[in-house]
Amino acid sequence: MRSELAAALGRLFQTPPQAYAFLYGSEKYPDIHGVVYFYPFFEGTLVAAEAAGLPHMEDACRERVFGFHLHEGALCKGSPASPFEETGPHYNPEGCAHPAHAGDLPPLFGNDGYALCIFYTARFRPDEAAGHTVILHELPDDFTTQPSGASGEKIACGEVQMNPVPFTVLPER
Ligand SMILES: [Zn+2]
Repeated sequence: MRSELAAALGRLFQTPPQAYAFLYGSEKYPDIHGVVYFYPFFEGTLVAAEAAGLPHMEDACRERVFGFHLHEGALCKGSPASPFEETGPHYNPEGCAHPAHAGDLPPLFGNDGYALCIFYTARFRPDEAAGHTVILHELPDDFTTQPSGASGEKIACGEVQMNPVPFTVLPER
């Protein structure tokens, strides 16, 4: 199989994402901010997620890992007692068990409070992600516990929207 990495990176640098979300932290985590871009790729989506202002500790061996999911709800609304409660459960149109939810994503790995992750998923297309929310959790996803991997509190949220900038697919070289 031919490597598609160059094509994936080319798409990131040369075309606007088809959908996007701006991430922002809950009241308890006001420093968190970031972006998540969704590019059509193969029959699914190339996701590029970046977050800064993440909680971190100075000690060695203490870098944090944050569960990351596409949730069903459309809005990042909630209360201080239950941040982003309206995002609801993981996006799961097929009624699967965790971590086979369409909205289950690789976790973000913190690096002194900064994370960057680019990955491919065929579980949804960018237009299917739009109208839902991306959530960053305080704990890593254990990919076992039902229904959400014991990933703890919702610490940051972004509402996924279609990009109004016309999306054009580059011609093949
Ligand atoms: Zn899940």
